[in-house]
Amino acid sequence: MGGTFDPIHFGHLVTAEAARHEFSLEKVIFVPSGLPPHKKGYQVTPAEHRYRMTVLATRNNPYFAVSRVEIDRPGYSYAIDTVLEFRKCYGKEVELYFITGADAILEILTWKDVNLLLQECQFIAATRPGFHLERLQEALPGLPVEGRHRIHFIEVPALAISSTDIRKRVKEGRPIKYLLPDDVEEYIRCHDLYLEG
Ligand code: NAP
Repeated sequence: MGGTFDPIHFGHLVTAEAARHEFSLEKVIFVPSGLPPHKKGYQVTPAEHRYRMTVLATRNNPYFAVSRVEIDRPGYSYAIDTVLEFRKCYGKEVELYFITGADAILEILTWKDVNLLLQECQFIAATRPGFHLERLQEALPGLPVEGRHRIHFIEVPALAISSTDIRKRVKEGRPIKYLLPDDVEEYIRCHDLYLEG
């Protein structure tokens, strides 16, 4: 489960649990990105904060784990490097699924080594309410047919919640309760996150 998680919220947690159930996954490993290659203009919160919030949010689910693989790797976080590392760790026989937001998948043709990536893992793209699947149909023809078949979609109504909206709410002094776990809300308050920017 890849994401910037700035911050993690219930939409991400519902997505992970839905994917685990629908695809009979043994576990879901959350991988907060270190330095996202596609966010050169936006000031992402330091990785250590995003990692700690992800740990707090996932600790009550025995099927969830959090990996530091991207935040401990220097340089930009490319999905292919992460997937190859998991492949090395879990072996050739294991089926890997990369879960993330459908908006991120729209850009997959620009990702590093996309063909190898699609050989090594399948994708689960979570769509927000109001997401137009036609946008994907327009974006994906650039991929070989066998690659397209390895991208699956799940609709997640809880993704009406978004990290961007939560950051905006904090900055404007509006409530974020019920959008993310209490522990994460407390972490944001204790560390004065999202007050500027
Ligand atoms: P993003 O561009 O910030 O997010 C795109 C959309 O997807 C946002 O609406 C976001 O909502 C949603 N989203 C992100 N992660 C999600 C998740 N795990 N579950 C459900 N929705 C999610 O995307 P990002 O978080 O930076 O990147 C997503 C993943 O793609 C990361 O693992 C990143 O490393 C990978 N990626 C790799 C490359 C590459 O290898 N070249 C390039 C781009 C992205 P929220 O803002 O609410 O999360």
